[in-house]
Amino acid sequence: MKIRIAGYKKHTLVNGPGVRFVLFMQGCPHHCPGCQNPETWDPAGGQETDTEEIIRLIRETRFLDGITLSGGDPLYQPEAAALIAKAAKEDGLSVWCYTGWTMEQIFAGTLPATVTEELLPQVDVLVDGPFIQSRLSQECIYRGSDNQRLLDVRETLRTGKAVLYNLE
Ligand code: SF4
Repeated sequence: MKIRIAGYKKHTLVNGPGVRFVLFMQGCPHHCPGCQNPETWDPAGGQETDTEEIIRLIRETRFLDGITLSGGDPLYQPEAAALIAKAAKEDGLSVWCYTGWTMEQIFAGTLPATVTEELLPQVDVLVDGPFIQSRLSQECIYRGSDNQRLLDVRETLRTGKAVLYNLE
């Protein structure tokens, strides 16, 4: 399936625990002031590639603990994100995903059903909410501002309310 990406990094240590392949997906409607990746906002920007190619890149990368879907906003291309996340889970990798939407907005039906029915069931941890410059905090591990949350997606979907992920 076609996907637009801004880029990727095969080994990072800052977008979730362990060694992770980070995919920067193209397209973000949130336009948060202070965003560090404004070049990812334009849905027509970046480059077009294929989910099979991304999966191949992940599978050829050694020593990974997981993948992280970042952006842009991965929920902007939920079908493609779901295919990649599913392949990663099949390979035993953990899946983290960043989004500028809050879980409450997602539950309210703001986004296509694909997000809750296909993508989120493949995600272990969702980092939700927009970046808010005035709430920037150096103490927020894996997050930019302290309004953003690390959510345990399995428990969140099971209970129907945002459940925080325990990093311990
Ligand atoms: S959600 Fe993320 S990528 Fe999108 S504008 Fe906000 S900080 Fe930037």
